[in-house]
Amino acid sequence: MTNVRVRFAPSPTGALHVGGARTALFNFLFAKKYSGKFILRVEDTDQDRNQEHFLTEQLTALKWLGLHWDEGVGKEGEHGPYRQSQRLDIYNQYAQKLVDADKAYYCFLTDDELNKMKQKAQEEGKPFRVQSPYRNWSKEEALKKKQTVNPVIRFKMPDTVKTYCIKDVVRGKVEFPSDMIGDFVLTRSNGLPVYNFCCSIDDALMKISHIFRAEEHLPNTLRQLIIFESLGWTPPVYGHLSLILSTDKKKLSKREGALSCLEYKNQGYLPSALNNFLALLGWNPKDTQEVFNFSELIEKFSEKNLNPAGAVFDKNKLTWINAQHIRSMDYKAFWKVFQPLLDQNKINLSFVNTDSLKETSFHALKSSFSTLKEAVEVFRLLGYFHIDHSVQEITGWSHTKSLITLWKTELEQIKTEYLSLEDFKNIQNSIKTQLNIKGAFLFKPLRASMIGQVEGLELKAIVELIPRKTLIQRADQLFQTLH
Ligand code: GLU
Repeated sequence: MTNVRVRFAPSPTGALHVGGARTALFNFLFAKKYSGKFILRVEDTDQDRNQEHFLTEQLTALKWLGLHWDEGVGKEGEHGPYRQSQRLDIYNQYAQKLVDADKAYYCFLTDDELNKMKQKAQEEGKPFRVQSPYRNWSKEEALKKKQTVNPVIRFKMPDTVKTYCIKDVVRGKVEFPSDMIGDFVLTRSNGLPVYNFCCSIDDALMKISHIFRAEEHLPNTLRQLIIFESLGWTPPVYGHLSLILSTDKKKLSKREGALSCLEYKNQGYLPSALNNFLALLGWNPKDTQEVFNFSELIEKFSEKNLNPAGAVFDKNKLTWINAQHIRSMDYKAFWKVFQPLLDQNKINLSFVNTDSLKETSFHALKSSFSTLKEAVEVFRLLGYFHIDHSVQEITGWSHTKSLITLWKTELEQIKTEYLSLEDFKNIQNSIKTQLNIKGAFLFKPLRASMIGQVEGLELKAIVELIPRKTLIQRADQLFQTLH
């Protein structure tokens, strides 16, 4: 396939949510697969709903996901400008062209008149189609009235019914009989174009070859095909993606996962994991692999394996995928994204201060968290000693005090700054024999004296990470709370 040009065309009326991100991702992957171009166009003609900060948020989220565009807002190319609000002259010029060719007309119907028509159709149980008396007005009459009343421009649907058909990449043949719709608006009475009109004009002028977008846009496709045809243009190839459903097969709610991408970022998800998870919502890799890094997604993605059936958003799966991505990270890459989070949380891990400790601590602890947010809590335990209420479980045990005393004495005999695993094993064995205990009776008090709680991290994972002196201080602190 050559000259592939796809676009992601968000409207800045909210944050970038997972649905939008998935649309952007599929377009991006398709562009990469065919060495095409991924274009970012901003559909900002809805002046009541657009907000500039939403645009900033969406662009930040796309960049965070690594979905960098080749052409578009902030990266002008030969088909710009890429913000629809800066292209109004272009739309007006084409609307005028359609009026001149008698394919569209000025319509002066008031809202009141339209409502009455709708009500009548409803009473008669018929589908509503605009019947505008202005459809047959002469140009002279219309221009005269236009001097005092601002009209909308309506497309003049041909009288003969015809079936439009697309070969949708995702769902195969889809047919649209033209009598599904009546004469539709191209530009509003305030002169601003409607979505279907500017979207079609832009897709044509920006030479978009393929469009992957949400299923909810399927009803728009007929109008867009008609606009293309009326201007003598060939429409792009469409692919309408599956719906994203919640686990109970209903519309995805915020609680279930319809959060903005940046909220996922704040919850400690990695962009590579979110991309991986989103790609699986509607794309079937056709083998058992579920964890893909970004380059594997680019390499393996195929539009042929896009599936039209609703895809279930399972947050547990996202978390699982995120854990797999974290575990396969290089320790340097991990610390690069993790250090700013520690800083944000004002956690100063003074003793994870060498490259080698960064490496050991990451590998020792990475299986105890699934998100970076959880990682913050794990590292907090390492860096700060806070005695948890869970410790009450061991305070009544008859051997706890002697165990802690023994632990401290053994620690004091070690000469090195940190314990080795070998040292730790020896100390454990010695305590076991002296007190004749094992299992939880040994581990829980030991864990309490290292991290202030009886459950949680593996002792083996943390013992090499906390300086020996700190371990002694912590043991002292715990001892003092025992009576
Ligand atoms: N601006 C539209 C939206 O936000 C894009 C529609 C399209 O992709 O054609 O949904």
